[in-house]
Amino acid sequence: MKPVQMVDLKQQYLKIKTDIDAALLNVLDTTMFIGGKQVTDFADNLSTYLGIKHAIPCANGTDALQIAMMALGLQPGDEVITPSFTYIATTEVIALLKLKPIFVDVDKRTFCIDPVAIKNAITPNTKAIVPVHLYGQTANMEEIMAIANEHNLFVIEDNAQAIGGDYIFKDGTKKKSGTIGTIGCTSFFPSKNLGCYGDGGAMFTNDDALAEKLKMIANHGQKIRYYHEMVGCNSRLDAMQAAVLNIKLPLLDKYISARRQAAAYYDKAFANHSKISIPYRVEYSAHVFHQYTLVLQDVDRNALHTFLAKNNIPSMIYYPVPAHRQKMFEAFGGGDYNLPVTDWLTERVISLPMHTELDEEQQLYITGKVLEFVNK
Ligand SMILES: *Cc1c(COP(=O)(O)O)cnc(C)c1O
Repeated sequence: MKPVQMVDLKQQYLKIKTDIDAALLNVLDTTMFIGGKQVTDFADNLSTYLGIKHAIPCANGTDALQIAMMALGLQPGDEVITPSFTYIATTEVIALLKLKPIFVDVDKRTFCIDPVAIKNAITPNTKAIVPVHLYGQTANMEEIMAIANEHNLFVIEDNAQAIGGDYIFKDGTKKKSGTIGTIGCTSFFPSKNLGCYGDGGAMFTNDDALAEKLKMIANHGQKIRYYHEMVGCNSRLDAMQAAVLNIKLPLLDKYISARRQAAAYYDKAFANHSKISIPYRVEYSAHVFHQYTLVLQDVDRNALHTFLAKNNIPSMIYYPVPAHRQKMFEAFGGGDYNLPVTDWLTERVISLPMHTELDEEQQLYITGKVLEFVNK
């Protein structure tokens, strides 16, 4: 059996090695390392794939979120509603820009921000909502957009874990995850569903003026070189990363299918287990399984993690400390929040190996070991 990894980038690379190596050598040959055709082609390819007018590449997913908030003109003290149950980047950039993160609870089944909790958190100072499409499941965007429209709020989708997913509206229309709010943000960190071989990120929008602003902010606030109209930053996707992404983007749907197939295998093995809840599916989101995350009941989760590790099966706790309990947010009243679902999930979630190269032999072994521990 091939060794089990949380994410097997090596096996994935070997299947596309010829194309990747040629593309990277070509970048070396042109010595066009920053900007250039690979990057502009990728921006076009991505916007076409997502069905959105503008895709603006940048240096990483964290920058994408930061630049989005800068472009919307949010001012110090403005309140931004965000889940606490997320990767730190989502909430960190809010604080970095001196905005006020307002942490709300998530839906127990979907792990995504709870629309009712959003409603309850709105004040006259609320300016934006940042739903996170956690683990590859799109948040309830139809309800979130209705709340945002009613209260005139911006919506910044943190789509770092759900690129390629479809959101299905009640009337049957579909949109790609990340293309529904004011701005969508994503990351091309190597382990993400569409990962490059270093850091990378992008922002998407249908708004022409906003797109222009996002581009300028990512480029030192300039449209014309050396004429800086606003304070920006230096956030670029480099040509090597764009070259990798131009090869991997056409494979994304295939990669998603492979993840779904792996998820279906896990589902079957753990179906109707009294101590294990498999990822819940909602009718409005076609899950893309960035992670396959179980919720355990009456199981010593940390002992399971250790048991699996001893059997050469990696597993992860995403995330062991929610944002509102991070020291970073003490000054933002983090400790004063009461987010029972977030705390409950934090103690019970465990993510199993999930990637495009899992085979049945590995999954049989993984599920066997999980059940051996849980049933004992
Ligand atoms: C990965 C990730 C980010 C940040 O992306 P980087 O490219 O690592 O900066 C932001 N939010 C979520 C939910 C993520 O998973």
